[in-house]
Amino acid sequence: MRIGELLIMNGIIMEKQLKQALQLQQIQSNKKIGELLINSGDITERQLVEVLEFQLGIPVINMAEAKFEESIIHQIQEATAREYNLIPVEQKNGVIKLAMVDPLNHEAIKQCEKETGMTVQPHIATRTEVEQAITKYYGTKQLIEDINRIIQAAVEKKAKYIHFTPEEDELVIKFQIGDKVILQKAIPKDAQQTMIDRIKIMSGLNVTNRSLPQEGKLHIQKDHQQIDLNISILPTINGENIQARILNYSEASLTISELGLTTENFHIIDRLVQQKSGMLFIAGPPNSGQSSTLYALLNHLHTGESNVISLEDPVEHRIKGVTQVEVNTRIGLKLSEAIPFALKRNPDIIMIDDVNSRACLELTAQAAWPGRLLICGSQAYSAVHAIRRMIGLGIDKQMLSSAIIGVIAQRLVPRVCKHCAQTMTATDEEIKNFENHNLVNIDAEKNGSKSMIGNFRTYVSAQLSGKMTVVRGSGCQVCNHSGYYGSIGIHEVLQIDQKLKQLILQSLPDPDLELYLKEQAYKTMLYDGLLKAREGLTTVEEVLKVVH
Ligand SMILES: [Zn+2]
Repeated sequence: MRIGELLIMNGIIMEKQLKQALQLQQIQSNKKIGELLINSGDITERQLVEVLEFQLGIPVINMAEAKFEESIIHQIQEATAREYNLIPVEQKNGVIKLAMVDPLNHEAIKQCEKETGMTVQPHIATRTEVEQAITKYYGTKQLIEDINRIIQAAVEKKAKYIHFTPEEDELVIKFQIGDKVILQKAIPKDAQQTMIDRIKIMSGLNVTNRSLPQEGKLHIQKDHQQIDLNISILPTINGENIQARILNYSEASLTISELGLTTENFHIIDRLVQQKSGMLFIAGPPNSGQSSTLYALLNHLHTGESNVISLEDPVEHRIKGVTQVEVNTRIGLKLSEAIPFALKRNPDIIMIDDVNSRACLELTAQAAWPGRLLICGSQAYSAVHAIRRMIGLGIDKQMLSSAIIGVIAQRLVPRVCKHCAQTMTATDEEIKNFENHNLVNIDAEKNGSKSMIGNFRTYVSAQLSGKMTVVRGSGCQVCNHSGYYGSIGIHEVLQIDQKLKQLILQSLPDPDLELYLKEQAYKTMLYDGLLKAREGLTTVEEVLKVVH
C-alpha cells in the first residue's frame, strides 16, 4: 500500500489533499509525497513517520528520548550525515543504529556501513529532529575546540577546578588555583546554553534535563596524555552551574620528595613509614593537598612485592599495582563494610582516604595490629586536632594509643611565581613573624629546599640595604598577574612516642601536651609556612591566611 492511501485510510488526509499533492509532485518530481504533504501543512512530521513505520515495518525513534552515544557520532562523517539526513544513535555488537529521514535510502546505508564497518540498523525520525541533532552534535567543532582550550589552559595553570558560573548577563569561567579563584573569561549570555549543553554531551550527561543536579566524567587528550575531569552540574536560577574538577595524573605519580617537605620532616616521615606497622594519619581540610601526600606515600612504599589496597571515596587517580576500591554510599559500599573485605586479602598496606567514624576508626586500629601499615586521611586542622577529634568520636583510647604512629598535618599555600619574583625588603609585620619563630637566620641547605631570590638586580640592591628581605611576585602573564603560580605544601609531623601514647590515654591534657611539644621543639605548620616564606617560596601573608 502506498503512503498516500495509508494516510487516507487512517483518516489523516482526504482524497482531495492527496490529489493536490500528487499534482504538485508532477512539478517537483524530486520531492516525496510525504514531504509535500508536510510542506502544505496537511500532515505533521510525526504523523508521517508513524505511518511510514506501519508501512515499512521500520521502527520510529524518538530523538528526544534517545540516549546518544557521543563517542560514536564521529564514526560517521559530518558530510555524510548532512547529505543523507541521518545520525548515529547507538552501537552494539557490530550493529549501528541510525536515525534516518529516509530509511530506504540504500546508498546512504551503504555509505554508513563503509564508514563504520558495522551493520546499519535504520530507524525513522522526523526531518526536524535529525537536522537538530546534526547541528547539535556536528555543528560544534569550534565550540569543542574552545572547551578543550579552556581545559588545557586550566591544566597548564595547575588549576584544580574550572567553574562555569551562569550570572544574570553572562557565563563566567573561573579557575581555582590553590585556594584562589581567578576569573578566566566571560561568555555572552546567548552562547551560554550551547556551551553548557556541549559540556554535558561531552560528559555523557542528559542534555534535556536542566532542572536536576547531575554528575559525569569528561576526558580530553592533550599531548598524548589523557586529562580526566569530574563534572558536577547544579541548576541555578541563572542556568546550570558546572564545576569541573581536574584529576591530575601527575599528582598520582608524585614522589615523596616532590611534596615540598623539609629534609627534617622527610626523614621523620620516612622513619615512620619504614616501620611498616601502625596507623599514620594525614590531616587537613578539603583541598589541602592530602591526596597528593597519600599517593606519594603509597608510591614511596609500594615496591611491587607488597600487597597494597586503597579504599577511596572516590578513586581520584589510578596507581599501578595497587588494588583500588571505591567506597561511598552512592555506589552502595560503605567503608565500614569494605575494611573487613580488604583485610581478608591480607594486605601489607591499606590506604583509606577519609576515616570518618568511630566504627571505621576502630576497624582500622584493629587492622593495624599484626605488622600492617595503615595510611589514613583525616579532615582535621592540625596534628593535635586530628587526635582530639578521634578521641571525641569515642574511639577506645587504649586501642588508638597502641596503633597510632604519627600524624602529618598540612595545607597548601600559593607558590611565588618564579617568572616575576622580586626580592624586597620585609615589612615590619613580616620581620616580627620571622623573629617570633626564630627564622631571622636560616640555613636553606640544611632545610633541603632551594631558596628563591627572584630577580637578581632586586636581590642585590635589597642585600645592599642590609635589611631582611622577602620574595614577592610582581605579576606577569604566566601567573595571570597574581604573583603566584602553583602551590606548595606546608606540614607538621607529630611522631607518637611512648610519652604521647600516655598523653592520649589521658585525652591529651592541654598543659602537659604543650610542655611536651615545647620540649620536643615541635615544628608547627605555621613554622614550616613561615620558613618557606623566609626562603622566598611563598609569602607570610598567604601562610597566615591558612594557619595561625
Ligand atoms: Zn608571575
